[in-house]
Amino acid sequence: MGRRSLGVLILLLGLLAPSGLAQSFDIVKVADGVYAAVGRAGVASNGAFIVNKEDVLVVDTHFRPSWAKDLIAEIRKVTNKPVRYVVNTHWHNDHVQGNQAYVSVFGPGVEYISQHSAREDMVGKAIPSVQEQLTKAVPDRIASTEKMLAEGKTTSGTPLTDQGRANLTARLGSDKAYLEELKSVQIALPTITFERSLVLYKPDRTIHILFFGKGHTRGDVVVYLPKEKVVVTGDLLTNGIPFMRDAYPSQWIATLDSVRNLDWNTAATGHGPVQSGKEQVDKLLAYMNDMVAAVKDAIGKGMSLEQTSASIDLSRHKDSFPAYAGNPQGFAAASKSAVERTWNELSGKIPN
Ligand SMILES: [Zn+2]
Repeated sequence: MGRRSLGVLILLLGLLAPSGLAQSFDIVKVADGVYAAVGRAGVASNGAFIVNKEDVLVVDTHFRPSWAKDLIAEIRKVTNKPVRYVVNTHWHNDHVQGNQAYVSVFGPGVEYISQHSAREDMVGKAIPSVQEQLTKAVPDRIASTEKMLAEGKTTSGTPLTDQGRANLTARLGSDKAYLEELKSVQIALPTITFERSLVLYKPDRTIHILFFGKGHTRGDVVVYLPKEKVVVTGDLLTNGIPFMRDAYPSQWIATLDSVRNLDWNTAATGHGPVQSGKEQVDKLLAYMNDMVAAVKDAIGKGMSLEQTSASIDLSRHKDSFPAYAGNPQGFAAASKSAVERTWNELSGKIPN
């Protein structure tokens, strides 16, 4: 794992909540038997579950098996039917690290489903990342937090306020609990993979699991319920500019267009609240179209990555994303990362 991905990981960990969170998810009913699980502050990544006549299908499993167990407790409030399917929308650790909770609670009959490339990346990237978090990223962060608390100042030398000290103390508790839990994380791998589409014909509904091409990663799927007009998008759609480190931005546009053109009214997304209607997907598409076109143009003029970054102004989209309300630096940082990844993709610098 490179320094950059480590930085991103630490950023993600920075979103984690204190341990002992009373409730990890807000459960939102989006159709009969269909529920979005929206991660509360700290948990951050979302899931969903679909209660069928005989069983339950869950989408995504969060950073921690204990959070997946929190979701199982929420499912138990709705139904006693067993979870028989777990779909991973993509390989990212905040969507797969809780997988093992389902086999531990519901036994070896649980089937884990992903796109073929997502499984490869769970083996090649997500599992090594667990080790890296365990042996380096999380211990380093704990040491850094302890140092700040002991010295009473931040790494840049600013004295800690009472609030700052309280936040760091909470973070330290959360990180220590996470480190302890990571020791027993063994990502349960997909038992069923597919290339383009997999359809589950249940007595009361049809569940489509669909791959439309590269996007947020090389193996993102959506779960689509045509009768209920609901789509579960993973990180192809969020309330911000989705994380770009592993993305194929120029190809993402066509993939997202295909998701948009399914017949749905409600999107349960990978991060952020449930979305009604297509306003947010249209805003993301408008942003991606502009961003990719600007990078193409810059490359056409022979610009380096640095020149490209300096020349592109995407600020007309700054109010398009609820994730950055009151946080223009968040929009700027996400755009910088999007431009960089796109430049690398279109310059042939990442494997296609
Ligand atoms: Zn992701």
